[in-house]
Amino acid sequence: MSIPKESEGIQSICRSCGTPLHHTFVDLGMSPLCESYVSPEQLNAMEPFYPLHVYVCENCFLVQLDEYVSPENIFTEYAYFSSYSDTWLDHAKTYVAMISERLGLNPESRVMEVASNDGYLLQYFVERNIPVLGIEPAANVARVAQGKGVPTLIEFFGQETARTIVENQGQADLIISNNVLAQVPDLNDFVAGMRTVLKPKGVITVEFPHLQRLIEENQFDTIYHEHFSYFSLLAAEKVFARQGLKIFDVEELKTHGGSLRLFAGHEEDASKSATPRLAKLRERERALGFTNLATYFTFADGVKETKRKLLEFLIAVKRAGKSVAGYGAPGKGNTLLNYCGVRTDFIDFTVDRNPYKQGKFLPGTHIPIFPPGKIDEIRPDYLFILPWNFKEEIMDQMARIRKWGGKFVVPIPQVTVYP
Ligand SMILES: [Zn+2]
Repeated sequence: MSIPKESEGIQSICRSCGTPLHHTFVDLGMSPLCESYVSPEQLNAMEPFYPLHVYVCENCFLVQLDEYVSPENIFTEYAYFSSYSDTWLDHAKTYVAMISERLGLNPESRVMEVASNDGYLLQYFVERNIPVLGIEPAANVARVAQGKGVPTLIEFFGQETARTIVENQGQADLIISNNVLAQVPDLNDFVAGMRTVLKPKGVITVEFPHLQRLIEENQFDTIYHEHFSYFSLLAAEKVFARQGLKIFDVEELKTHGGSLRLFAGHEEDASKSATPRLAKLRERERALGFTNLATYFTFADGVKETKRKLLEFLIAVKRAGKSVAGYGAPGKGNTLLNYCGVRTDFIDFTVDRNPYKQGKFLPGTHIPIFPPGKIDEIRPDYLFILPWNFKEEIMDQMARIRKWGGKFVVPIPQVTVYP
């Protein structure tokens, strides 16, 4: 086990509680922004790299990355269109059916989603005649939502935007925030904003990848500059409590490698009492040592070992004269490839269903991205699945590679080959 280093350089403070950050969770070295896909014209230009150095707060145990790049530079033109994943669309549809029933939502209700992307989720409320408002800072994806008939405000969310929304449209019965909490630099302002737009008896549901799963399943590639925070239930609860919101229920989900869905309401809302499964999860996190710094210091060793094993596998495959192609061009793939130093020396190309990414190159590694048809043309021996959280869906869609003896490779939690 390596000894955790004290941070050198500029002193940072915890974005939740303000305590100075001293303790390294993992240091993945320098990496480019994982959503900055490189166009052919940019190939010979300089590319900015930033540290991927993750800390853990000794006071509130929030695992976090410094804000090396402001969200304005990351999210105003975003390459991630939620609707390109069937699994994610199913997840959204199931959620809408569940929550509409649980809260008794109807055409008099109002639903808001922060970071509503291309309207992948709100469209299902629209189908049920439940009024919605999306809030999405990336203009290119927001316009796609508007085109589908999902009213969308092109803004970053926080207290200021929240006050404007309340003035113009009133408060919401349900506020949804899926996979955005991690991407918020000013966590307290964001959660305060949700409180502001929430009706006195309203409900907030928040989804984010669970830190327990990140640690246990070695999901270090979900760390990237766009993700500032990595939450346990205990660390998330502190943020909500500080803004006068109480968590009253939690669900564990399979999405994004294992996520939590928190249900929150106003602290003074007596109509909501805590569920037994909430108490149970809190207890489990405590038992796993999530309130003990030493627990966090073991993670980095597993990450280094994963890198060594992945390189051993790729070297052996290349020595045997086999070809490897990637599948997908997700943000997480870029952390993995840059940290492991895997370029076209190991992976010839990758493919993605998102036309926005096709014809471009992965940041840092400059692996070219083609439409999925390229796989049938080249017939690689191995298909390396970068978005491993969708591995079942992808192995289904691409089952035809077995016709030419192709095999699937999944890198996380450890390199696994699926014949
Ligand atoms: Zn803290």
